Amino acid sequence: MPPRGPWDEDEVAVVAASADELGALDVEELGAVGDHERWHGFGVGTIWHLKGLLVGAGTTNPIYTGLEARRQYAALTGRVEESVPVANTGGGGSRDAHWRESVFDHELMTPYFDRGRVNPLSRVTVGQLADLGYEVDLDAADEYSLPSAAAAASLRFEDRRRCQVLGRPEPVTVGGPS
Ligand SMILES: [Zn+2]
Repeated sequence: MPPRGPWDEDEVAVVAASADELGALDVEELGAVGDHERWHGFGVGTIWHLKGLLVGAGTTNPIYTGLEARRQYAALTGRVEESVPVANTGGGGSRDAHWRESVFDHELMTPYFDRGRVNPLSRVTVGQLADLGYEVDLDAADEYSLPSAAAAASLRFEDRRRCQVLGRPEPVTVGGPS
């Protein structure tokens, strides 16, 4: 049975990468990058705005507001969380379409791929898939914890692969001005 989700059957996602870029990655890294892009195809970061789950796009503090991802983020921080921090740097296609690098560091769905370490799929991302309407198994997420404050403060992004989501679909306005 095909996965149930927010897409119509005839909607597709296309992933493009340069040979130069992919040639620099080993097989394991290629798999992780492929996973990252595939999750975009399932709607992670690509349809948040269409679902009304993204607030503050284009500002210094874009946030994701879906309930299950917030719950899973709160479980990591130990606090009540009203939102999940979304990437606020990296230019169009990176910002507003991923989790915030300075908070989530090596999590799979941050804009920068972390070479030389595991890029886990967290329960926050799996919870986010539930917010989009998929049936999910939160326990299938990878083991993941947030970086310490000290580690987060010393993050360096320069030599990492950065993902850009291009050609995001526009929100459909129903009954608006034509
Ligand atoms: Zn990406």
